[in-house]
Amino acid sequence: MTFPPKTKPTRILIIIGTVTITLITLLTSEYLINTASNHPESSATGQLFSGDSAMTYAQAQCDIGPRPTGATANKATANYIINILRQTGWPSESQEFQYRDKPIQNVIGKRGKGSLVIIGAHYDTRPRADNDPNNPQLPIIGANDGASGTAILLELARVLPTSLSREVWLAFLDAEDWGNIDGWPFSVGAEHLAASLKRKPDSIVILDMVGDRDQQIYFEANSNLPLQTTLFSIAAHLGYSANFVPRIKYAMTDDHTPFLTRGITAVDLIDFDYPYWHTLQDTCDKIDARSLERVGRVIQQWLLEP
Ligand SMILES: [Zn+2]
Repeated sequence: MTFPPKTKPTRILIIIGTVTITLITLLTSEYLINTASNHPESSATGQLFSGDSAMTYAQAQCDIGPRPTGATANKATANYIINILRQTGWPSESQEFQYRDKPIQNVIGKRGKGSLVIIGAHYDTRPRADNDPNNPQLPIIGANDGASGTAILLELARVLPTSLSREVWLAFLDAEDWGNIDGWPFSVGAEHLAASLKRKPDSIVILDMVGDRDQQIYFEANSNLPLQTTLFSIAAHLGYSANFVPRIKYAMTDDHTPFLTRGITAVDLIDFDYPYWHTLQDTCDKIDARSLERVGRVIQQWLLEP
């Protein structure tokens, strides 16, 4: 028995290997760009918010990896958001600026005419897992703290009707989560958006850490009480009383703060009872499609009320 000369199979293997790597690279980048095309298109009347669909937007962000401000993965996330806004028919604007040594980019999708309402979420993730007992220097995946609110905004982009009776901005905010690291404050992106407003919004609702499997969202002490009452009564009407508890539990400094200080009606929807907060365990298996769906449907119903 003889074996063929070694050179040929080696070369073929190299060629096969190269083709495989190229295919994987192409498929991966195509996947990131085309995630929205796996979902039904936007329509004039809109569709019901789907938690499963929102979960695919969250998973895509987790798949990118840690997404701290200034990192390549942060820029890739901004591009991913811009692509989905384009595919779902939302004109978008970017606010790009420098803070200290880092480039910051807010992305804002805009649709509708009338009084202005903003739904916001930060898409950056914490550069260091400072609550992690083992690896506090490593960056977090930020499934709940970053991806959950962003995923709900992306699903809202898909399901909201093409004509709205008010102007809605979906504000994807950068640089929330460098706070208390290297002397940075929290909410650098939100502060920039608030300072740049040419007209006063009716209200802004921030979604942060809203995807926990074990979901209990309480009133937040600094948030506007009448608007919280409205949102929680919509939640109760939808059967979510176990998850939306109309009682103050925490006082938060978050992306709603720069708007509150300017006298704007602002609410922070946040579930702060999350044991994986700022640890490497804040991964996509800790969040749940049904949790995303409850928050998404409350916001959807609120936005569509006359
Ligand atoms: Zn955080």
